Amino acid sequence: MHSPNFSLYGFGPGHPFDPERFDRFPEYLKEKGAGERFEIIGVEKADWEIIESVHEPEYLERLRTLAKIGGMVSPDTPVSSSLIEGARYMVSAAVKGMDIAMENGWNVITMGGFHHAGPDYGEGFCIINDVAIAAKHALSMGKKVLILDIDAHQGNGTMDIFWEEPDVLFISIHQDPRTIYPGRGFIRDIGGGDGKGYTVNIPMPRFSGDRQYALAFEEIIVPISEQFGADVVITNGGSDPHYDDPLTDLGITLKGLNYMGRMARRISKGRPMLNMLVSGYGRMTMPGWYALAAGFSGMEWDEDDHWDRPSWARDERMDDLTKAITDAIKKELKDYWSF
Ligand SMILES: [Zn+2]
Repeated sequence: MHSPNFSLYGFGPGHPFDPERFDRFPEYLKEKGAGERFEIIGVEKADWEIIESVHEPEYLERLRTLAKIGGMVSPDTPVSSSLIEGARYMVSAAVKGMDIAMENGWNVITMGGFHHAGPDYGEGFCIINDVAIAAKHALSMGKKVLILDIDAHQGNGTMDIFWEEPDVLFISIHQDPRTIYPGRGFIRDIGGGDGKGYTVNIPMPRFSGDRQYALAFEEIIVPISEQFGADVVITNGGSDPHYDDPLTDLGITLKGLNYMGRMARRISKGRPMLNMLVSGYGRMTMPGWYALAAGFSGMEWDEDDHWDRPSWARDERMDDLTKAITDAIKKELKDYWSF
């Protein structure tokens, strides 16, 4: 899913979130000779009604007012009318992408994944939660949804929106929240009310790499996903778990990103999948998106990292630290899932 209007989603010069990424990705796929593997589908602008399926009307009114008078929803997230326009195109892409995935059983790739926006708040470069809107759309058709959030930052907005929802399994694997924004998503955060057990947070130690992520997938993500048995799968994230990302401290390589894409495909077991790409704040953003997209799509892919990897990314002691975390998660969730 793509629209030239996605690039309206920007915060101005100097901000780490460059909107050129959205137009660059289809070009990058062509350069890699993968352009023909994908059919590009255009989108219209979402109406406010579908956005209200997730966000409170007062909050949306505040967004529109801030766009007029100039202001911000949080210190890192100034609001403008072009930001709102861009967001509405990406919401529409997510919803239409979900429809197409469900109608054809396809893996759809789109751009977006603004997981830090909650029911009545925006922050962390996010104002409208397109992940949650796509999930709500599937939910309204009686579907059970797995959201696999593989962004380096925890998906606090999505978590808050589905905290009490047992038909949405929200799994977030992210950098230890004590060491990074948004500072949320600890092992003990497992949902509430009827949704208890349907929120799973996997806080990965700083500097953990491909092997530690593989451990978390095998020990936690795969078994829980299989027991849940979703009708549709949504993934969101991007390149920011890569070791070269300037905003994060993880040790994932391009091969590790490709592994996550392949695992998501394996977990989906041929069921419809919507894959949302948005993050990455350095030179690996496009190669990382490509590695993920190839994994989601079951394409052949074999690339190496183009940059020197810091020595900490190979630290074998990380395995023990990660094992302690997966054990603690199993203990916390033992009443809800078997391991
Ligand atoms: Zn992120």
